[in-house]
Amino acid sequence: MECSHDCSNCSENCSDRKENFLAPANALSNVKHVIGVISGKGGVGKSTVTALLAVTARKNGYKVGILDADITGPSIPKMFGVHQIADAMDEETILPVESATGIKLMSINLLLEDETEPVIWRGPILAGTVKQFWSNVAWGDIDYMFVDMPPGTGDVVLTAFQSLPLDGIVVVTSPQELVGMIVAKATKMAEMMNIPILGIVENMSYFTCPDCGSKHYIFGKSDIREYAKKAGIDKVVELPIDPENARLADAGQIEKAFSEELFDIIQ
Ligand code: ADP
Repeated sequence: MECSHDCSNCSENCSDRKENFLAPANALSNVKHVIGVISGKGGVGKSTVTALLAVTARKNGYKVGILDADITGPSIPKMFGVHQIADAMDEETILPVESATGIKLMSINLLLEDETEPVIWRGPILAGTVKQFWSNVAWGDIDYMFVDMPPGTGDVVLTAFQSLPLDGIVVVTSPQELVGMIVAKATKMAEMMNIPILGIVENMSYFTCPDCGSKHYIFGKSDIREYAKKAGIDKVVELPIDPENARLADAGQIEKAFSEELFDIIQ
């Protein structure tokens, strides 16, 4: 095919593709796998799933990092109970902050003096910040880097898809969403960018009665498995409504939770 060298309108899987947009990795970073976590809208549990993936990978002995690309709604540091300001090595390089169990974190909230200050930057600056979190952070040796994307399929997500060397994507949905649409959008985007979807997580899928142990599909049973099958995605994980995990996340103690079932998605 004739090549216009404009990959934004082309889905060809050619060898030049990623290199065109990839942000350079920091000289002090050696990251083996980069996994993006996306969702159709906010509040479905994308950050919780990112944190649980990271915590479980760490429990399995891996070196783990989380790049919080959700610049306008960062929630990763709070879940890990980390509130200090990241140290700078020099004018161009910052060091990630380590959690209690040694997970390396970078988030806009680790750079702002006042973490309640809203970030009201425009799209290109937000997207540039995500690139800097890759290029200007000395991550060191990382086996699994999880990228907590902003919700939806806007500017920043697109830039992150193009500029980070993603190995795969995990899609997080909830039963209240229009699951079919989200799966279709995510699949199209992943195809265009030539990045595989590793699995779909339906969060808050059901509630297990603490008295009798039976599962209750409070929002009705969704067709998630059907949609996943149609899209050629093998792995689907249904996570329950879990007030204890929500409490741990709120208390900055998400490292006390884990989910092997989730971790299986990326294995
Ligand atoms: P997102 O990143 O998609 O905006 P969060 O992960 O921040 O969503 O989750 C939104 C809220 O829902 C948080 O208070 C979180 O603790 C809570 N939450 C997420 N997943 C669950 C779950 N499975 N059970 C109960 N609460 C949950």
